[in-house]
Amino acid sequence: MPDQTPLQACQPTLESLPVTADAIRQDIKQYQFYHLGRILKDCPPVYTYRALAWTLRDRLMSDWMNTYARRDLPGKRRAYYMSLEFLIGRALSNHVLNLDLDKTARASLQDFGHSMEELVEEEPDAGLGNGGLGRLAACFMDSCASLDLPVMGYGIHYEYGMFRQRIENGYQKEDADHWLRDGNPWEVERTEFIQRVQFGGRTEHFTDKEGVRHARWVDTSDVLAIPFDMPISGYRNHAVNTLRLWKSTATDAFNLDEFNAGSYTEAVQEKNHAEHISMVLYPNDSSENGKELRLRQQYFLASASLKDALRQWHAAGNSDLSKFADDNVFQMNDTHPTIAVAELMRLLMDDYRLDWDKAWAITTQCMAYTNHTLLPEALERWSVALFERLLPRLLEIIYEINARFLRTVSMKWPGDLDRQRRMSIIEEGGVQQVRMAWLAIVGSFSVNGVAALHSQLLRDGLFRDFVDLWPDKFNNKTNGVTPRRWVAHANPGMSALITREIGDGWVADLSQLEKLKPLAELSNKAFHADWHAAKRANKERLAALVKADCGVEFNPDALFDVQVKRIHEYKRQLLNVLHVIHLYSRIKKGHMQGWADRCVLIGGKAAPGYAMAKRIIKLVNSVAEVVNNDPDVNGRLKVAFLPNYRVSSMEIIAPATDLSEQISTAGKEASGTGNMKFMMNGALTIGTYDGANIEILDAVGEDNFFLFGLRAGEVDALRGHYQPHTYLEQDHELRDVIDLIGSGHFNPVEPGIFDMILGAILSPHDPWMTLADFRSYVDAQNLVSLAWHDKANWTRMSILNTASSGFFSTDRTMAEYNRDIWKLRPA
Ligand SMILES: *Cc1c(COP(=O)(O)O)cnc(C)c1O
Repeated sequence: MPDQTPLQACQPTLESLPVTADAIRQDIKQYQFYHLGRILKDCPPVYTYRALAWTLRDRLMSDWMNTYARRDLPGKRRAYYMSLEFLIGRALSNHVLNLDLDKTARASLQDFGHSMEELVEEEPDAGLGNGGLGRLAACFMDSCASLDLPVMGYGIHYEYGMFRQRIENGYQKEDADHWLRDGNPWEVERTEFIQRVQFGGRTEHFTDKEGVRHARWVDTSDVLAIPFDMPISGYRNHAVNTLRLWKSTATDAFNLDEFNAGSYTEAVQEKNHAEHISMVLYPNDSSENGKELRLRQQYFLASASLKDALRQWHAAGNSDLSKFADDNVFQMNDTHPTIAVAELMRLLMDDYRLDWDKAWAITTQCMAYTNHTLLPEALERWSVALFERLLPRLLEIIYEINARFLRTVSMKWPGDLDRQRRMSIIEEGGVQQVRMAWLAIVGSFSVNGVAALHSQLLRDGLFRDFVDLWPDKFNNKTNGVTPRRWVAHANPGMSALITREIGDGWVADLSQLEKLKPLAELSNKAFHADWHAAKRANKERLAALVKADCGVEFNPDALFDVQVKRIHEYKRQLLNVLHVIHLYSRIKKGHMQGWADRCVLIGGKAAPGYAMAKRIIKLVNSVAEVVNNDPDVNGRLKVAFLPNYRVSSMEIIAPATDLSEQISTAGKEASGTGNMKFMMNGALTIGTYDGANIEILDAVGEDNFFLFGLRAGEVDALRGHYQPHTYLEQDHELRDVIDLIGSGHFNPVEPGIFDMILGAILSPHDPWMTLADFRSYVDAQNLVSLAWHDKANWTRMSILNTASSGFFSTDRTMAEYNRDIWKLRPA
């Protein structure tokens, strides 16, 4: 278990349990009977799943304890990944893969009447994130364990994860995701490490016996943070790291006055209030929440985690705080946990009595910040008034950080008041606001973007003033995805084929996929046939899912053209829909030269308050309804909207995709990671010159990538003179598409519902410039269709995409974070 004292760490390591099919079968039966009170006969699969999960967790336990026993020594450096989101998905199949127990576990299930596939389906996705940012955190955790890096994740134990999406009459409906209702068999509650987190109250300043000034935060309303630990297994290396998730609960101190006055229920209400903090994940992706409860969540995570890290460091036998930054580094996933900068200052000064300069030196040597977006609507700002009320002591510290920082700025640029105003952590104006990104930059020794273009745009734009001041702070770490979940687990057919040809070293060293390149040559007919067959089987699997969830028949011989990601205007699902409507209108007109049969799949959740995104979902469903039921189409084009896009559905989708749609307005998608999952699984990309698409294009070569659209610089240059009507005038095919929507063809019984969409894309102020890229997108799509006809060459390009995807493993990303930022010594 984590957090052994050095003394305990020296105790003999625990025996691991036997991993034979007999032993596993025996343990499942034990759990079924003694723990769950069920007998074999008629045991519903959900209980067998839980018994199997416990049985496997038992088999992780000694490695889990030993991993920490090895590391809990004085002077051992560790990293903490702080994130409000961890989009983990399912754990069962992941641990089975990492422990190499697939065959054994299947054999052990013989008596139970349930297949492994059935049991896997019983596990709810741990959907503690919105999209790319949360999924990145989960992939990072996987790679850190597989590299045996001493990294612990800190997050929130949300009772309700990302909402479940249903489609009703084409519209998105949200249902609460009570993923913990049946309990979570993987987690371990660790009440011995409970932390207390303060809110509200006021500050007092006083002078101690030595005449030193101090502050204290008093009259606060406190909540308790209970840690729940999830094991993160490494790939076949006996390392098991921890994801520590905090659940909020009331302190046991009831308000006795009220209690005695007979207001028992009022006293208990406080409990209710405290438990709200970890109740629900905010479902907004790439946009600010602005709610008080969200700021409470952020501080709750930061405070509990920092106190716990300090406790762990002391428990490992350390005591000289001036060495704290030698032993600890905190990576902040976006600005969400950045209040940690001020909180660490508070703890070091108010609790450990360090002076400002010592505390600041420590803080700024152990904080590191990752930026995930340039979109202005995502930049977090909290009103000073809210801070004052909720976190008064933290606001004092932020003011002091800012005052000292602005002195540095004015020293470097005397008299440049405009620059001081731009760089101030406190934004002046109508309502004073705290700029969280600025606090993160000022308080960190490293600031990184998540793809080469994104990091460059940060330097040249948003962060330019700070780059002038501290050029060495800024760096790039291109995102990745874990090849264990996204290839080895999700695509067993293709994985077996790869392993047959180049051995299984690629799973832990994805650069080895390069060895597939010679096999891409057209002369390797047998390998090509096997590759095609693996893709074909995956397409059948996806077609079954689409049939079950959308009622639409996909023909596995058609081109599977897929766009799954959060629904957002900058991701331009609308551009995709315009192309679909264009294809439909070609069929209606009989313009079939160069045609390729396509199945277009679109999926993704819209933030519940994002009206335009929700209307885009309705448009996709309305177009699908017309296209799929028009006899003239005759199956040559199919369109489906897959409800409730999540990690476990992506595991089916990515391996079955032929064409990956990565069509954001250039300069807007920081990196993208869906693009990498598709590439690894042998999809070709149609994409703009944006985010990590650029690095994908560089890796695979422009002949094996369908590039289109304006570049980021061209998008910027066009702003202010964008004239969507000129594109309409010049392009009759675009006109046909817009006219078809405008005529109400797709919404005969709900007139006018798409006017808001037409209004947005026809506006000269459309920030996403959808119409500017229409022609070049359609031209690129026509090249896709032509390329699809040459089956052998398509397969060659598909193999080359997989073979060139090694760079996009999070093993590489984590090695770079470690080399440049964390500097953890190898275990
Ligand atoms: C990978 C992934 C994402 C991120 O997709 P992008 O295309 O990069 O936006 C979002 N959600 C889920 C469930 C994912 O698996």
